[in-house]
Amino acid sequence: MPSPIGHSLAGICGYILVQPHIPKYQRLSCLFTSVFIANAPDLDFLPGIFLQADPGMFHRQATHSLIVAIIVGVLTALIARYLKFKHWNWFGLWTGGLYASHIFLDLMVADDAPPFGVQLFWPLTSDYFILPLTIFGGFNYGGSGLFGFLFSLFSFQNLIFVLQEIVILVPCIWFVWYGQKHLIKKPT
Ligand SMILES: [Zn+2]
Repeated sequence: MPSPIGHSLAGICGYILVQPHIPKYQRLSCLFTSVFIANAPDLDFLPGIFLQADPGMFHRQATHSLIVAIIVGVLTALIARYLKFKHWNWFGLWTGGLYASHIFLDLMVADDAPPFGVQLFWPLTSDYFILPLTIFGGFNYGGSGLFGFLFSLFSFQNLIFVLQEIVILVPCIWFVWYGQKHLIKKPT
């Protein structure tokens, strides 16, 4: 998997995409929401840490399914509609897309041990899928329990992987920002 920093950079891309359409006083909460959703599938570490002291126990399974991304999009759209958001359908598309961005990045990670990839079509199948294109290093995690897990994140190898993600994803942020500023019609 890319690191939380890599997924957060993807979340910033998602924020920049909608930023001109968000009232100024809501922009900070929109940014945090965007970063949270872009990282949300990796919350599957938590049950493994607390139940079995094994962070990888449920990792890259149900929460990394495209079907779950669609459900997230539909549910958030329905909630936004209930709350009378003006563009509730676009909001659902945005949240579902952000969630799917996480899965998409995870499909392009160097995976050095089976099963390779993620359970992309859970619950239809529990098979794992990965793209043949590898862009990101396999950010390592391990140890047992919460503290073992947290300490494992701060290795030199992980630092190199994070720098790789910054080199790849920061230009993507610039590209989205440039496209938003110069190519997409501003709301009136
Ligand atoms: Zn993930």
